[in-house]
Amino acid sequence: MVGFNNFFKHPVNSYFRLISSLDLPTKKAPRLRLPASVWERVNETHKDQKQLERELIEDLLKSETPLKNTQCWTLPLNSKVVSQYSSPRTLPNNRSYLHSGVDLRARRPQPIVATADGTILFANKMVVPGNNILIDHGEGLFSRYMHLSKLLVHQGDSVQRGQVIGLTGATGRVEAPHLHWEVVWKGRPISPFLFLDKWRFICNPRFALTR
Ligand SMILES: [Zn+2]
Repeated sequence: MVGFNNFFKHPVNSYFRLISSLDLPTKKAPRLRLPASVWERVNETHKDQKQLERELIEDLLKSETPLKNTQCWTLPLNSKVVSQYSSPRTLPNNRSYLHSGVDLRARRPQPIVATADGTILFANKMVVPGNNILIDHGEGLFSRYMHLSKLLVHQGDSVQRGQVIGLTGATGRVEAPHLHWEVVWKGRPISPFLFLDKWRFICNPRFALTR
């Protein structure tokens, strides 16, 4: 069994296939059906603001804190996956990209919970992610929750696994209401479900520190 110290010693790409621009499909990626009113709020005219927000998040993801504990993670919302990690998409401006998280169905506002104990690094509005929350779990591991209708935590709050942090919604760049859930490790978005699969063999159901 892989100990949790060993797990974090390895480079992130030894466990996970990371999305990269080299993976962009040569064939056309499916086109996102964004309502015109949504595209107006997120298109190129907002590129300076989007760049500032990307830089802010990149800075926050450099946070180096110890792992809160070795607890097992929970899902933020028990719902159907409507779009997988790394699925290709094309925007109305013809730019293609790979999906950096998973989308969970949430047609109406539903409470979502923190997947594990952590500290709220960001809880506010952004252009593309809409109302979104970023949680630091320590050891370079983060979770992110996008397109929320309501934020129920503040920057700096400590949260516990299972604590309600917001309500799903349709803010930011969305075709329809859903939850975009992302797991970032050492600065790279990884597959949330693959992470859960691997972490399940390492985590401690009793939450205790085993370091
Ligand atoms: Zn998404």
